[in-house]
Amino acid sequence: MIHPFLFSDLHVHTNKSLCAPRSTEPGSYVPCCEPEGIRLIGISDHVYPEDMLTRYGYPDDKRVGRLLELRPVLREAEAQSGIRFLLGCEIDYFPCVGHPYISPEESADFDYVLFASSHILNYPNMYTEYDLHNPDVLRRLTIDRFVAACKLDYPVPMGICHPLYPICSPFQAEIIDGISDATLNELFSMAAEKQISMEIHACLFRRDTPLNQHGLSDHYLRILAAARDCGCKFHLGSDAHDPTAFLGSHDRLRKAAELLGLTEAHIWDVAKGLLPAKAN
Ligand SMILES: [Zn+2]
Ligand SMILES: [Zn+2]
Repeated sequence: MIHPFLFSDLHVHTNKSLCAPRSTEPGSYVPCCEPEGIRLIGISDHVYPEDMLTRYGYPDDKRVGRLLELRPVLREAEAQSGIRFLLGCEIDYFPCVGHPYISPEESADFDYVLFASSHILNYPNMYTEYDLHNPDVLRRLTIDRFVAACKLDYPVPMGICHPLYPICSPFQAEIIDGISDATLNELFSMAAEKQISMEIHACLFRRDTPLNQHGLSDHYLRILAAARDCGCKFHLGSDAHDPTAFLGSHDRLRKAAELLGLTEAHIWDVAKGLLPAKAN
């Protein structure tokens, strides 16, 4: 059944992401939409620097252009399936690089952007000056990168994917439980002020932290409850890299939204399929 306001997933990958199976196309998710109660998919593939594309065997791919090639593919999938598709991207932003991989000007070709402020252990080579074995260091970085993302100004709607979720870290509970309520309040007030959407992400059920009787992480529910209390908007993000990860995820994400007491008013406009009018 289609949920009246939680019918979209804005964090879905295709084979444009190097970490996804080569067989994953936007249309691969279409057969899963009905069972999952999804009628809007936001494709948000990773943006890579060009030297990394060359290293991984895609020397002719253009950093942003390769993602924009999806626009006609999405239009076609939409026409064939009746499922709506939006084109977003997942953007990294490392302290040693100093600027995100998509500039505000380049972002204008996308419907929305998601900042991956907590990709730290995914790219340890970007953090060589930090002791990434120390949970206190990881917590500080997780907080600092969130603040850095909130300071950005982009002309398209902005979200933060897996907010404050230290992906790949063995000390996740220690890191997130150690973020004080006062700090959460400060971080999410900043995000709410900038109208940056927070993601209800698959980390809620990924078993990186203990799960409650609903199969959800109370550790991450605490984080999202703080975002709710600060007035943030939300969207669902399965972070699926293939249809098997997409299937079975949305009811759990909706359960989290229910436990948080979210109503339609808490949902990001983009997640409702509402995009701001483009200037040109
Ligand atoms: Zn990510
Ligand atoms: Zn992702």
